[in-house]
Amino acid sequence: MIHKLNPAVSAITPQNDPWDPIRSLHRHGKHILTSVELTVTNLCNMRCEHCAVGETLTMTEGPKIPLSKVLQQLDQVEHLETISITGGEPSYHAATVRDYIVPILKYARSRGIRSQLNSNLTLDLARYEMMAPYLDVMHISFNYTSAADFHEVGFVRSSHPVKQQTSGKLYERMVENTLALSRGGMLISAESMINYRTHDKLSDIHRLIVEMGCMRHEVHPMYPSSFASNLPVLSLDQFRASITKLLDERDPSLWMLFGTLPFYACSMLEEDRRLIRRLREEPNVTVRNDPDGRNRLNVNLFTGDVYVTDFSDVPALGNIHSDTLEQVFERWEAHPLHGSVNCHCPAAQCCGPNLLVVDSYYKDVDFTTRKAAEESAS
Ligand code: SF4
Repeated sequence: MIHKLNPAVSAITPQNDPWDPIRSLHRHGKHILTSVELTVTNLCNMRCEHCAVGETLTMTEGPKIPLSKVLQQLDQVEHLETISITGGEPSYHAATVRDYIVPILKYARSRGIRSQLNSNLTLDLARYEMMAPYLDVMHISFNYTSAADFHEVGFVRSSHPVKQQTSGKLYERMVENTLALSRGGMLISAESMINYRTHDKLSDIHRLIVEMGCMRHEVHPMYPSSFASNLPVLSLDQFRASITKLLDERDPSLWMLFGTLPFYACSMLEEDRRLIRRLREEPNVTVRNDPDGRNRLNVNLFTGDVYVTDFSDVPALGNIHSDTLEQVFERWEAHPLHGSVNCHCPAAQCCGPNLLVVDSYYKDVDFTTRKAAEESAS
């Protein structure tokens, strides 16, 4: 497919978040495939307790699908706007960085497609520097107030005990890498989960993220999935209180992006609607609609399997050896689960809940029959 070269894409800012599916929904009048996530490894040097793909992590792995096949598939997605590269730790092997990640990032640049890499930034700085000229967003997880926290959270699922001293070195390297890459101009977006460990210390975590020079702090509530499926679940009241406290104490100069929130403008509860209003009105704060199940597919670069998300229990909907990504997306549109969360309230800038959120907190709610208060008023 011939694409018009569009290198002059606008900067990523609170006003311009290319990963928000509501943009393409507004532009095309329906959800279309604009975002592809590529799982380039199942290897990782950490075993975080909240890991969304923890059950799929391995100690060894076979060969990947040839790069040419991957690029050919991406080339067939006409309205592709964003590519996310994920793992495991995508940079676990330097060869993956050299032979897959950098060429994919260069491809994205040549088409004016925005790119993100999900990393723990604990490996050699040189690996990340190789990507730096072509990468738009380096996304890291940051749920710690100290090296001791990092040790507890990051290695709890390891098959062998990891010494505090060893994890301490990784923690230091992550902080140093973040500082160095930020100084070099990379947009590092640090994501914190709101969970039973972090909900009352998010402001301290936030402060460290500011100190490391990150350009964005992403905050997502944690829901039961993969490694996290047996961890204590917070109540909606605890999530609301935690977000409110963070908004009160944050550094207003740092962009904060909230995602996968369990609060909607159609809520019957005044406290939910008040929080939604506040999130909308606060400067430098954005709420991203959930790409999973809306405009994004995930491709496993080992099997070729295509998923609607990388962490829900929906089985693969196709395979790149036999289907194009657009064909798989059409299959998802016909799936009963797709319809169950396919609501849209334009005045509230909302296009429905995440499947895990519904499963955790709103099993009996039919969102397709609800409307945001703003919609009823207009
Ligand atoms: S789009 Fe759906 S979830 Fe969002 S406010 Fe409207 S009805 Fe509620």
